[in-house]
Amino acid sequence: MSNSEQTSASNFLQQIIRDDLAAGLNDGRVQTRFPPEPNGYLHIGHAKSICVNFGLAQQFGGQCNLRFDDTNPEKEEQEYIDAIQEDVRWLGFEWSGEPRFASSYFDQFYEWALHLIREGKAYVCDLSAEQASEYRGWATKPGRESPYRGRSVEENLSLFEKMRAGEFDEGACVLRANIDMASPNMNLRDPILYRIRKESHHQTGDKWCIYPSYDFAHGQEDAIERVTHSICTLEFQDHRPLYEWFHENLPVPATPKQYEFARLNLNYTVTSKRKLKRLVDDAVVDGWDDPRMPTISGMRRRGYTPAALRKFCDMIGTNRSDGIVDVGMLEFALREDLNENAARAMCVLNPLKIVITNFEADEVEVMKAPVHPNREELGSRELPFTRELYIDRSDFTEDTSLSRKKFKRLVLGEYVRLRSAYVIRADEVIRDDTGEIVEVKASLVPDTVGENPPEGIRPRGVIHWVSVSRGKQAKVRLYDRLFAHEAPDRGEQDFIEHLNPDSLQVLDACWVEPSVAEAAPETRFQFEREGYFCIDRYDSSGETLVINKTIGLKDTWVRKGSA
Ligand code: ATP
Ligand code: MG
Repeated sequence: MSNSEQTSASNFLQQIIRDDLAAGLNDGRVQTRFPPEPNGYLHIGHAKSICVNFGLAQQFGGQCNLRFDDTNPEKEEQEYIDAIQEDVRWLGFEWSGEPRFASSYFDQFYEWALHLIREGKAYVCDLSAEQASEYRGWATKPGRESPYRGRSVEENLSLFEKMRAGEFDEGACVLRANIDMASPNMNLRDPILYRIRKESHHQTGDKWCIYPSYDFAHGQEDAIERVTHSICTLEFQDHRPLYEWFHENLPVPATPKQYEFARLNLNYTVTSKRKLKRLVDDAVVDGWDDPRMPTISGMRRRGYTPAALRKFCDMIGTNRSDGIVDVGMLEFALREDLNENAARAMCVLNPLKIVITNFEADEVEVMKAPVHPNREELGSRELPFTRELYIDRSDFTEDTSLSRKKFKRLVLGEYVRLRSAYVIRADEVIRDDTGEIVEVKASLVPDTVGENPPEGIRPRGVIHWVSVSRGKQAKVRLYDRLFAHEAPDRGEQDFIEHLNPDSLQVLDACWVEPSVAEAAPETRFQFEREGYFCIDRYDSSGETLVINKTIGLKDTWVRKGSA
């Protein structure tokens, strides 16, 4: 896609609204809505829809409603309703007024169903689901009219009332619109308006045993709320003629218009609530907000920021054709934000003890380091330096044959700089019975804090460290992609087959500097040389620090993109 195409495509909804405003439509009002079905947690695809709907309302000084599309009684739960509200707010948006519920319009829908029956535009149909599907035909074969289509208005009114009163079993009959069984658009072949469902509903209890279909509800919800631009994803394009038919045939207070954009699909990622629910139900992950999940709450725990998600949604544009976005682009947006805003700190993931033999055992020298290298306003942090320190095991070797270029860390008999502290030399290795190195004795070069070492002393590089007595132990969870396959749910195999078996690794005994131990849950850090991390909002406490790895330092997408 060329740049110019991308720009114009990404703006098509803005352009429509601008044109409508210029033409004086809707009395200059712009009103959108975000209409989740409360049958799961929101995921990255929903984040896109939220940014589009709330974003357009914001941009044009309009309003955006949060509306729960709760027409389906059995799969929906209060837990989801609460989580959805929390996620929308966390992303940085606020809906207009109270959250709305499709179920609060059930009385009005019922009245409108009666209206259609009275006008001869709806009928009660007793065909079984199987028969109805056979009568419906298929794309290239016109359907046949139901034998119940000719029922009189009186009979339909009476049967529909009985449906409502619970006098029929589930599946015994449905209410259908009387439109056109020969229409090339399958959605217009006498679509279902109401089904019998003898289920309790989380908002309306046992008041109803008939429930409106998505099609009969959605457009009318938009009309009741006087939505001006009803934005949905492309799979609803073929429903648009039906959306408009209802508005033409019902005494609705407004006639919103529907516009469709392409769903967001990400490689290596599953974005279907049904499939995500399976991961939760089968305990493949630790709940909807497991940091590996592409849910908004999962990404939040992982360390994503609302700004990074909004930036990503902006970067990918709003298009009319389906495509698959590289997850590297999401990670790019995240790194950019964290690089700019995350505090720097030191964390040793695989500790190896260093004893500085020429530093007193009870002495503490407090070093200072900036919280962020180019944001002075964030201040500085204190790094207590003590005789016993931890460095990472991978930062030490006895192998003196490694070139300076290859190994810019600590080598036995040579020098390295400890970040924001002294230059040290590794003098001696201590082993346990098994031969494993358990300690390295080292000596510091005096007067090298913030100063170059004397002539002839050449540190190989700079490594990070944490004081044993002043640092704090932490549990760090390292995450990798949940799926090892680029398109986990697009092949022949069940998507579960493509799970990455190594998506979680837990390191129980890492060490962090004091500034990390003191930080609040959800604080994000760049641990120097290791990547970006976030203090877990639930599992971390004063007792046990639990830290999630958000993402590594290196960007894969930029390199690919600029190649
Ligand atoms: P799922 O397939 O995950 O169940 P859904 O579309 O059924 O998703 P809804 O709760 O009905 O989920 O979605 C609420 C809104 O979010 C809808 O307007 C829908 O079009 C939009 N949406 C859902 N998934 C995506 C996506 N991947 N990209 C963009 N918008 C999405
Ligand atoms: Mg849906």
